[in-house]
Amino acid sequence: MNDSPQSQSQALHRSLVTLDTHIDIPWPPGPDPFQDGQRRVDMPKMQRGGLSAGCFVAYVPQATRTPANEDAAYTRAIAMLDHINAMGRTEAGITARVTPTADSIEAAKRDGVLAIVPAVENGFSVGSDLGRIAQFRARGARYLTLTHNGHNALGDSCNPRRDLGDRDVEHGGLSALGRLAVRELNRVGMLVDVAHVSRDTMLHASEESRTPIVSTHSCVSALCDHSRNMADWQLDVIRAVKGVIQITAVSAFLKPHAKPNEVTVADFADHVDYAVKRIGIDHVGISSDFDGGGGFSDWHDAGQSANITEVLVSRGYDRGALEKLWGGNFLRVMRVAEQAAE
Ligand SMILES: [Zn+2]
Repeated sequence: MNDSPQSQSQALHRSLVTLDTHIDIPWPPGPDPFQDGQRRVDMPKMQRGGLSAGCFVAYVPQATRTPANEDAAYTRAIAMLDHINAMGRTEAGITARVTPTADSIEAAKRDGVLAIVPAVENGFSVGSDLGRIAQFRARGARYLTLTHNGHNALGDSCNPRRDLGDRDVEHGGLSALGRLAVRELNRVGMLVDVAHVSRDTMLHASEESRTPIVSTHSCVSALCDHSRNMADWQLDVIRAVKGVIQITAVSAFLKPHAKPNEVTVADFADHVDYAVKRIGIDHVGISSDFDGGGGFSDWHDAGQSANITEVLVSRGYDRGALEKLWGGNFLRVMRVAEQAAE
């Protein structure tokens, strides 16, 4: 019997619901996700890495805000959501299931199948038609990232797009439409994702939303001063509204100006430690941003996900803490949104 610390953390890892809250898919559609290929995430790598669940995002890039471009962004988001839904199938001996609720994510783990949670990144795809949010939800989407890089009709981004004519600040946070969008997200049971938004937008979203806001992929400013990271007071807001920050695997968010080969799971664990010390174990989680810019030396792809558990075990996190970090906290917030939906 092998009872080394490594095999113990490996066994613990495999027993947990492990939810990575931000994974990109290729668009136009890329390689078969049931084949072990060049992508950082595919079904074989999830299985091998003991990653039981992933939020797969329909990401739409920001473009000039014309009605035609907003319509095209919506069309693309819907097509991507349909594609993500089609990943719920059995192929090559692996079963994946679309799991748009917290209960179904846990059931998938019990049943030994991979869990696929659809989501949408960039409210640009909403344009000025809030009815589109219900269409996203009808396709299982569980969160909307309000902006990407560049301001949109809903609110200001933390990274204005000079090439698209953005000033530092356009709306001063959420726009009036953005406030209505937050209420619509609440109504349909989708989470409000404040990754990518400006600090004022984040604050407004925390005030407007009836359910806890989340950042599905960000790190902490105190350890790495990057526009995409959260200042201490923002972490405090996350705690105050009972939300969650999902620490992410983007090297430049983890260490200033670092390249992926210069970052390790120890750097990732530093951000987890910092956030847990600041706002508590109930408000921190884990994400990769794989295939969207995330990944570093020893969490290069989903197949290495157990390395995260191993480093956290070495830092003293016990089973209960790991359950929360690896998905329990995000599932709790999902359930609150499900119960608040009208
Ligand atoms: Zn992103």
